[in-house]
Amino acid sequence: MANLSAPVSELVGTKTAALLETEFGITNIEELLRHYPRRYEQRGALTDLGSLEIGDHVTVQAQVKSFKNLKNASRAGNRQEVIISDGSGQLTMMFFNQHWREKDLVPGRKGLFSGQVSVFNNKRQLTHPDYQLIEDETAINPDDYAQAFLPVYPATGKLATWTIEKCVDLALAGLDEVEDPLPKEIRDAEKLMDLSLALRAIHKPSSETELEQAKQRLKWDEALALQVVLAKQRHEEDSWPAVPRLEKPDGLLAAFDARLPFKLTKGQLEVAETISQEMAVGHPMHRLLQGEVGSGKTIVAVRAMLTVVDSGGQAALLAPTEVLAAQHFRAITELLGPLAQRGRLGAHDDGTGVTLLTGSLNTAQRRQALLDITSGQAGIVVGTHALLEDRVDFFDLGLVVIDEQHRFGVEQRATLVAKAGSDRRPHTLVMTATPIPRTVAMTAFGALDISTLSELPAGRTPITSHVVLASEKPSHMARTWERVVEEVQKGHQAYIVVPRIASQEDKVLEKGQRQAIALEDLAPQLISGPLASVRVGLMHGQMSGADKDNVMLRFAGGPAHPDGIDVLISTTVIEVGVDVPNATTMVIMDADRFGISQLHQLRGRVGRGSAPGLCLLVTEAPPFSKARERLAAVAATNDGFELAALDLEQRREGDVLGREQSGMRSSLKLVSILRDEEILEQARIAAVSIVSKDPELKLHPALSRAVQTLIDNSRAQFVKKS
Ligand code: ADP
Ligand code: MG
Repeated sequence: MANLSAPVSELVGTKTAALLETEFGITNIEELLRHYPRRYEQRGALTDLGSLEIGDHVTVQAQVKSFKNLKNASRAGNRQEVIISDGSGQLTMMFFNQHWREKDLVPGRKGLFSGQVSVFNNKRQLTHPDYQLIEDETAINPDDYAQAFLPVYPATGKLATWTIEKCVDLALAGLDEVEDPLPKEIRDAEKLMDLSLALRAIHKPSSETELEQAKQRLKWDEALALQVVLAKQRHEEDSWPAVPRLEKPDGLLAAFDARLPFKLTKGQLEVAETISQEMAVGHPMHRLLQGEVGSGKTIVAVRAMLTVVDSGGQAALLAPTEVLAAQHFRAITELLGPLAQRGRLGAHDDGTGVTLLTGSLNTAQRRQALLDITSGQAGIVVGTHALLEDRVDFFDLGLVVIDEQHRFGVEQRATLVAKAGSDRRPHTLVMTATPIPRTVAMTAFGALDISTLSELPAGRTPITSHVVLASEKPSHMARTWERVVEEVQKGHQAYIVVPRIASQEDKVLEKGQRQAIALEDLAPQLISGPLASVRVGLMHGQMSGADKDNVMLRFAGGPAHPDGIDVLISTTVIEVGVDVPNATTMVIMDADRFGISQLHQLRGRVGRGSAPGLCLLVTEAPPFSKARERLAAVAATNDGFELAALDLEQRREGDVLGREQSGMRSSLKLVSILRDEEILEQARIAAVSIVSKDPELKLHPALSRAVQTLIDNSRAQFVKKS
């Protein structure tokens, strides 16, 4: 039986082994064999050179078109200009003092050429070129000839695809039977190849069908390992006890509902019912509440918190930023009114304390907050990362709510959850405003149950979005600022979002690139120019918590506030959750610099009241660019689920799913959580069944190792990212 965990140095020279490790982190045979080809070249079929992106390190199959020996003009020596072609497009390769290549690079010869695509003198070229010529068809060894597909590996300037291919060939030569991480029952049921066959076939496919079968099988490896990790997490969490939190018919929650100025939507009521049932039992709830921007997740969370307070416990709400924590605190205190004033004159009998804990409190405030939390005076605690500190000690933590969960990692959630005591777990509700398709969510958050709010509260007018072409149509830019002023004259407010605080004077720009618009530059121009007649406020991430809070209060206070702000010019600190219903217009400068989901989040700040919302996406991106396409897509729909799917397609999946998930996602080489729903779902069912019978995977040693590798890789990724 072949040993996949043997080091590659047993197979290849020390120099190559070292390169495999530094370039790709490959140390053992299994890692080498799981370094799958990026694509395959059909023998003789030339690569479409038009599809190459500038900056990519590529390997292409092409034909030599011309070879020229040139004399250098200014210094000694000569250079060789070689043009390769796919029949229509072409690339230039330049060598220095290597005229001997002329006998290799004969016009008409085909080969694999590799290098980095760049542009020089308006011509596309391959820098640091390297190549391997394909043997003359007549001189070809019949065995090789049978191999119709040439694997092209992810390669670097230091480690070429053909070197990797040679290493893989050596590994395959020694490969006989291997221990298979996929249980036989699954292989039989799904008609999957065994591992050694699949590994052979993905590197040396003899047909398209065989390649597809190999991929299918290897996708299962990834899907099952991932689903087992999630099933194990879930199994572990479910084994903890929790205190059942029962609703009280005439408690705080009832009083709160009676005070609510609106009716809950059908979706909100349904989710509330699910949550209340799950918190009423003796093991912890783990629920993810995802919802369209503005769908009213906060109210659902507040009602869950009040249920816990009614039953004698405390609830903590963790928010990713001070702005958001402060806003939640204000909103909750306001919604509760007298209910939030325990012990004071005129307070409700069942009232509870609401406490805010952030990093910017002064010493006395912090001491008071910590005391309220420890004594249980504070039934509801809202805070930022400050809540995670050691000295925060709850009296009886019954519910943890995490807003915008993608901003937090697993460890942070674990830290807060552990504050319920060493012998039990609190109920957990995590909220995310990046709506993702249900099947994707099931995989991404497999250890959580999922509720979705897709309906917006009644009476909202949909946001209208337009793309404004700043340089092509300057008059539209002027009109944009007029629009903002008109909106203010109607008694409304506006946001202007910019990508940066300060301009990066010293940043080296590539050709065609432009400095991003900076708050420091734009704000003075607007204040002394088109926005001179309105009250402008500024906000960005480098301001102190207290300053940000002050600006937010003045903006939230709006026209009625004596020192109110009509137009807020801000960086993306307002991206998530900020809720000022009177704000109706948003202008996003250099909108092409933001991702799809981020733009959708941003514009979700307007159109939250009854007046229609308007979002203007200002861009200088060139026509027909990807960036322009993206903006057009955002302008065309208000459906966050649709946009999230588009975003997932265009970007690395991990970026969309957040920190916690990105490590694991990036270990997925073949499986796409968007396109392989079926495999992922089948694997999930299989994983749950395996883990329920054999939680320690004692009966599945090879699977257990695969799971451990996945966990190790995602940890390493996580550490690298944070
Ligand atoms: P999100 O889901 O984006 O976090 P919020 O919870 O901030 O949304 O709610 C958006 C706004 O809608 C808030 O001002 C909130 O008070 C209001 N809201 C929530 N539920 C309802 C409802 N059922 N009817 C009317 N307005 C509601
Ligand atoms: Mg929110």
